[in-house]
Amino acid sequence: MSRRVTGTEIERMIQLLAKLPGLGPRSARRAALYLINNREKIMAPLASALGDAYEKVSVCSTCGNVDTLNPCTLCQDAARDQSIICVVEEAGDLWALERASATSGLYHVLGGTLSAIEGIRPQDLNIKGLIERADVDTVNEVIIAVNATIDGQTTAHYITEQLKSCNVKVSRLAHGVPVGGELDYLDEGTLAAAIKARRPF
Ligand code: ZN
Repeated sequence: MSRRVTGTEIERMIQLLAKLPGLGPRSARRAALYLINNREKIMAPLASALGDAYEKVSVCSTCGNVDTLNPCTLCQDAARDQSIICVVEEAGDLWALERASATSGLYHVLGGTLSAIEGIRPQDLNIKGLIERADVDTVNEVIIAVNATIDGQTTAHYITEQLKSCNVKVSRLAHGVPVGGELDYLDEGTLAAAIKARRPF
């Protein structure tokens, strides 16, 4: 039996921190110690920020994004291009696209992808809401920005079929050579996709 090093409160904090993505038990102990050493500067504001977010966080009833507002901050922003809806798998993908300022349009978060193995069906995803949103006159284009995985692409095809009844242009992300990428370092799948998606100079 291992000997206890800390009291139950700290032990519990370490156990919970270790559940966070990217943190194992070792990093969790370091994070816990850092919080303890910065009790006033980091630990107290973090505890209160977590409490506030816990109280207010919700899923946007329009786009499926997570926020403390409903409709979310992005859906409420009238300055965004209301004619484009960019479809993503998870809110994290939306945040990544926003960090890159990749589109000024609206978003739609599916909440995952179709998956035969995991038994995820169209009705398990936020697809019906997307079709309803795309079927209004103000929307001209739907960009399907899902992951380049088999399930992602299956989902993209399914959505494209469903959108045929709406009067919108459907586009998807390009697959190919990353910015700054060297050909010699790319995997065969990426290279083949890049050749297939070649464009005139
Ligand atoms: Zn929203």
